[in-house]
Amino acid sequence: MKHDPDCLFCKIIEGKIPSKKVYEDEDVLAFFDINPGAPIHFLIIPKTHISKLADATMENQQILGKMMLLIPKIALDAGARPGQSGGFKVIVNNGADGGQEVYHLHIHVLAGPRPWKQELLG
Ligand code: 5GP
Ligand code: ZN
Repeated sequence: MKHDPDCLFCKIIEGKIPSKKVYEDEDVLAFFDINPGAPIHFLIIPKTHISKLADATMENQQILGKMMLLIPKIALDAGARPGQSGGFKVIVNNGADGGQEVYHLHIHVLAGPRPWKQELLG
């Protein structure tokens, strides 16, 4: 399990910075975004430090798949509306041009009634 002492999300994993958790197991943590862009907005992160999607390797295949497969259930637990009339959006920002600000890989999950903040696409 890699850890970067200067990384904000590694500090959240360690509990050094508080967060409102939605889900946690030995591999991943999900917590609400401090500046939500939608009525429901949480981040799911691997507990091992990976800076960005482009730095992930085949060693990370299992954890990346696990995060994706956990999202639908965590989204419902976080309050996303079920069924085809509900749903959620999944976003990964990679690098400066991708709008990434925190360099610990995270998947944004957004849900809830629209409108949502347009800045999400920026
Ligand atoms: P990025 O732009 O890197 O894809 O997204 C980083 C996200 O982390 C932003 O949506 C931002 O609001 C969120 N964020 C930054 N600092 C904190 C924090 O200390 N706690 C929580 N819960 N979210 C944070
Ligand atoms: Zn980290």
